[in-house]
Amino acid sequence: TRLSSPLSFEQSARQVRDNSQWISGGVNSNFRLNISPTPLVFERGEGPYLYDVDGNRLIDYYLGMGPMILGHRPEALCDAVRDQIERGILFAGQTQVEAEAARLVCELVPCAERMRFGTSGSEVDQAALRLARAATERQKVVKFEGHYHGWFDNVLWSTAPSLDVAGPADQPVPVAGSKGQLPQSADALDVLPWNNLEILQRRLAKGDVAAVIMEAAMCNAGAVHPAPGYLEGVREACTRYGTILIFDEVITGFRLAPGGAQERFGVLPDLATFGKAIANGFPVAAIAGRADLLDMFSSGGVVHGGTYNAQPISMAATVATLRSLKPSLYSLIDQRGTRLMEGMREAFASAGVQAVVTGFPQIFHVAFGLDAPARDYRDLARSNKKAYVAFTTGLLHRGVRALERGAWFMSVTHDDAVVDETIAAVADVARELKSTGV
Ligand code: PMP
Repeated sequence: TRLSSPLSFEQSARQVRDNSQWISGGVNSNFRLNISPTPLVFERGEGPYLYDVDGNRLIDYYLGMGPMILGHRPEALCDAVRDQIERGILFAGQTQVEAEAARLVCELVPCAERMRFGTSGSEVDQAALRLARAATERQKVVKFEGHYHGWFDNVLWSTAPSLDVAGPADQPVPVAGSKGQLPQSADALDVLPWNNLEILQRRLAKGDVAAVIMEAAMCNAGAVHPAPGYLEGVREACTRYGTILIFDEVITGFRLAPGGAQERFGVLPDLATFGKAIANGFPVAAIAGRADLLDMFSSGGVVHGGTYNAQPISMAATVATLRSLKPSLYSLIDQRGTRLMEGMREAFASAGVQAVVTGFPQIFHVAFGLDAPARDYRDLARSNKKAYVAFTTGLLHRGVRALERGAWFMSVTHDDAVVDETIAAVADVARELKSTGV
């Protein structure tokens, strides 16, 4: 990179290289590969900060890819986990702590009449699709271009396709996300453009769609608002044509509002899936929704399993997290996130860099080279990604860690001082981007 480099990441680079003799690529998820200048190795996290093996303190806007809405190591959660570990680790039976966690989910999430816990977003999304197919006795599923629902064969289609192969905007061609994916796994899938109600209505009218699955605000690839009236229209069309509406709230759940995107936008799905912020970093996911659908697990012949579902330590973390999600927490994040977004806009404007900062104070994204907020994947795909990587790399060298792809996540520990420090770093990097002409 041509940007100056006050911080060094040599130890991280060396360790990732060394570790790759045991771990494929030195990382345990493909989404941690190809990070500039190197995937990092961390020693600890505290509040808004991560500390890496080079001795750098980084302001963290990855937040574990979204979960840590309370920041790193919140005290109440750490205490609850310590308490639970004294009682045991895994029972393959029921616990009071899981019942309390479930009660809290059902209290917070508008559509949650009933729920089940799982361990990852990918997996509960599979559970949701299975329920929808069983309930409707149909097979087809509609997903949207640029939306991510986990890494399994049947949904890893058109999550980040190159526009060269993605087909026309109004009729996207399903593009496999991975080699080795069963090609037939797209046979039961239609990929549509998001935020376009007419195209969806026309598709559902054929009467053969089991489920529509979507991120109700498109957050995996950015932070894109649903168009006014879009979610209401989708809800209405799904009801009219007997299609199950699934909101994938793995990112938006407990983040956009205590009750997620469905609370924020006032539209109820039939099923919703959760992960990430539900347990502030513990491997917990959930599927929630209509009781008649969820009860197909217990009495409708639909199988759902998992050795680690409702693992007690993770459930203690879930209870501690959900009890912390007071409205005051969201207004704090709202104020500070808004200030950060505005500060970034001013920094870009005064440096003369064209960038759109958009989304929500709890999760937002920055797109270079666009002159208006993205409405869908095609808009996001046209932003200047090279400039964005130069931007996040420049920030990293100034002690600010933001995802190279996707969004900025806020936690309640990102206070005004942290926000100010971030804005100063952004202003620096913006000037540098301008002068290097990236
Ligand atoms: N859905 C969405 C919207 C996501 O962002 C993710 C993860 N980034 C998933 C599902 C999959 O969750 P997990 O990584 O826990 O399997």
